[in-house]
Amino acid sequence: MEQNKFSEYKLDESIIKALTVLKYTEPTPVQKEVLPILLNEKDIVVKSQTGSGKTAAFGIPLAQLVDWEERAPQALILTPTRELAMQIKDELFNIGRYKRLKIEALYGKSSYQSQVKNLKQRTHIVVATPGRLFDHIVRGSIDLSKIKTLIIDEADEMFAMGFIDQVEDILAELPSDRTTALFSATMPQAVKELADSFLYSPKFIEIATPEHAKPRVRQQFIRVEEEDKLKAFKDLFIVDNPDSSIIFCNTKIMVERLTKEMSRLGIQVEMLHGGMEQKDRTRVMSDFKRGYFRHLVATDVAARGIDVADIALVVNYDLPDKTETYVHRIGRTARFENKGKALSLVGRNDEVQLENLLSLQDRLVEEIPRPSRSTVEKYRMDFDRKQGERPTIRKEKGLDFKEDIMKIHINAGKKTKMRPGDVVGAICNIEGVTADDIGVINLMDVSTFVEILNGKGAKVLSALQKMPIKGRPRRVSRSNETEYERDLRNGY
Ligand code: AMP
Repeated sequence: MEQNKFSEYKLDESIIKALTVLKYTEPTPVQKEVLPILLNEKDIVVKSQTGSGKTAAFGIPLAQLVDWEERAPQALILTPTRELAMQIKDELFNIGRYKRLKIEALYGKSSYQSQVKNLKQRTHIVVATPGRLFDHIVRGSIDLSKIKTLIIDEADEMFAMGFIDQVEDILAELPSDRTTALFSATMPQAVKELADSFLYSPKFIEIATPEHAKPRVRQQFIRVEEEDKLKAFKDLFIVDNPDSSIIFCNTKIMVERLTKEMSRLGIQVEMLHGGMEQKDRTRVMSDFKRGYFRHLVATDVAARGIDVADIALVVNYDLPDKTETYVHRIGRTARFENKGKALSLVGRNDEVQLENLLSLQDRLVEEIPRPSRSTVEKYRMDFDRKQGERPTIRKEKGLDFKEDIMKIHINAGKKTKMRPGDVVGAICNIEGVTADDIGVINLMDVSTFVEILNGKGAKVLSALQKMPIKGRPRRVSRSNETEYERDLRNGY
């Protein structure tokens, strides 16, 4: 097999192996810059767009630097939204899978109690939104004394969302001899000041997106009358007939209305906004990523960093107030060398924002005319046909690990005084199986989930049918539960 280029860095075999399964064989430009610095535990400020591989740029060094034996969290990632927190957690979990890293995500609107419970177990890395982390600090449910690396992700957005005071309060709680890395898509003065005050002579790097990899977003806008906006949108959508899209509205009410209207056109569409229950938001994001439905109507909660492959069209049904938000929204398309299109509906009240956009964008934003009725009719059949087609379902990234890893369920847990050591002890008694074959162990109240690595799942499963664990034979079965289902079960 061709050598994985990540072997050039001093990384554990377990991490290289995970990167190979993830098909990360060649570091991206941001990874080439960031890896050596973070592995050397030096501070760094990175200006880089999402979609550049920046999560792994900090995720790989974190996974490497973490000492497995330590029970308290050693790395902390602050990120502005729940969706990003979940996404980062998934990426870190995959990278650290063979090193058996435990990653915990802390964010609002999910069960505080189950987070507290999970934090009591060994936790190597914590990914958190500032608000929820601060609650844990105030209530004393998290031990931050062992944090040696802090990542501030999407710092500009943290400011935009008004989190910055909380971020500063959190920084004050962390050990001062830590390494800090700050990532931001843009570098407003406030972010520079934050870096100056809290980082120790950081190296500044800017990842210029190479010309060929530049998001090639074709940006268009159309002038509409408010009363006529919905009809204009429908016409444009029919004519464009995109394979997939995200449509941004500024309010929850508008998201709900537009979703209903689009469903009426026979479009498979779902919505995402901050007023929804967390478990619904998680399901919608996961299903959208996998391609179960093609069109998503959303408020800006979905705008930042969300990594969905191949979005063909981004629509600004409502133009955002801030130009930065516009840039982030249209960044949802044209990722990783795909082409994409962004279309904005500009009402009479939006002229100022439009002026700002036109002056900021280095590439031309072109005005297009409203399609005529006959054009819309011409395209309608194609449109209807496409809505009837079955979407192609994408494989979830973690599934590549499946062949190698089997998750086993043991019918005993904390309430029966089971400890991870009991599980490891029993499994290591099986001939031909060692501690290296044991992955993440999740101890619940009356259940334990344990991942068996290196294709030895079947062997362990069969041996444990007869073998006692902590003195008694236990009911042991194969678990098909995914990470996502585990999160749902835990009330995330
Ligand atoms: P991010 O900028 O972290 O949102 O990453 C964008 C996408 O690139 C994600 O889907 C990653 O899984 C993927 N990715 C990150 N690093 C690599 C790599 N070295 N090779 C291929 N894909 C990568």
